[in-house]
Amino acid sequence: MPTFEEARSMILASVAPLGVERAGLLEALGRVVAEDVAAPWDMPYYDNSAMDGFAVRAADCWVGGSLQVTGYAPAGGAAVPAVEPGCAVRIMTGAPIPAGCDAVVPFEETEDRKDTVLLKEKVKRSQHIRFRGEDVGRGDTVIAAGTVIQPPEISMLASLGKAVVRVHRRARVAVLSTGDELIELGEKPAAGKIVNSNALSLAAAIREVGAEPVILGIARDNPESHRKKMAEGLKADALITSAGVSAGDRDLVRECLAELGVRPLFWKVDIKPGGPTAFGMKDGKPVFSLPGNPVSTMVTFEELVRPALLRMMGHRRVIKPYVRASLRDEVRKKPGKVHFLRVRVDVERGWKWATTAGDQNTGILRTMVRANGIAMLPKDQTVFSPGEEVAVHLLRGDAEMLEEA
Ligand code: AMP
Ligand code: MG
Repeated sequence: MPTFEEARSMILASVAPLGVERAGLLEALGRVVAEDVAAPWDMPYYDNSAMDGFAVRAADCWVGGSLQVTGYAPAGGAAVPAVEPGCAVRIMTGAPIPAGCDAVVPFEETEDRKDTVLLKEKVKRSQHIRFRGEDVGRGDTVIAAGTVIQPPEISMLASLGKAVVRVHRRARVAVLSTGDELIELGEKPAAGKIVNSNALSLAAAIREVGAEPVILGIARDNPESHRKKMAEGLKADALITSAGVSAGDRDLVRECLAELGVRPLFWKVDIKPGGPTAFGMKDGKPVFSLPGNPVSTMVTFEELVRPALLRMMGHRRVIKPYVRASLRDEVRKKPGKVHFLRVRVDVERGWKWATTAGDQNTGILRTMVRANGIAMLPKDQTVFSPGEEVAVHLLRGDAEMLEEA
């Protein structure tokens, strides 16, 4: 049975980035650029004013001197003629610097006398001019392959006139629930029936990493139903099943996947919760068989599936950083397995504290709802003292770390 790290490494070694497609800028948000992007032109494209003021010839300027105002250059206006010695042009931010000028004097440093302007401060050559290409030169790589597209990248691409960008495809991830006890959301509850919540929590988690869920519904506890749904699931880029992987009489997932030609890599992992997690490959596509217990399903998705989906979508950094947090209370566990402890992390004057989020029994969903982190307790350690630091994967993005206002 692989350890947690071994299982994660085996999964990551099995999957590779999917293909590439062209996407509009907003559609590319959160996705990974597949090739270096070069600037098609210099940026700025022309020398222009960084201030509202007067474009001048620095050599003609001294404190107390004045210049003849011979033109007006608004942003977006037509080009003004070259400026003669002793003259200046009223200029707005972003307007091209008229020929002959080599500095801009902001209004604040002048006295505007209509046809002339009085200079109150020293003027240095080049001041308040944004020069052509000073930000980006034509041909420069402005975004390297592997970059995740975020608002700054979108700004850069748009500024350079690029409306589409080549990015890695989103993974289409099939979600299959198994079990005769399952009813769909909206159906009437009854003894012996359980709502198929895993389909939705998995679909949500898939969407959160930027992939596209395909909900296949429920495979009933007979081999025909399993095989039919699984065959459908294998058309997607990845298949995630839930439940039916333990040692129960009707746990058919393992056997049916094998019949469909899925090559098993492991059938169990040395972790708690999530021990009965299986992983296999078919034609380059990963198949994750997660345990059915909703908490175990979510924890194993977070720790084992998420990094793989990120890699498939071209991400280079796929393992969430562990943050260190001090335990508020003593925690004990049995030796032999990595335990994933559901915790609440809070920040006190910059220091992170982790408190157990409640009953750690895997049947307790409320503890997962209360948690905003998963602490990874090493395999062989059994006692964790108050104040001791543990490695935590934060859930829920940054939302929980924000301050209320
Ligand atoms: P199993 O692995 O089939 O024995 O299922 C383990 C536990 O998870 C059982 O209590 C199931 O009722 C529960 N379970 C299985 N599938 C789902 C599902 N899709 N949604 C919510 N709970 C489930
Ligand atoms: Mg079952």
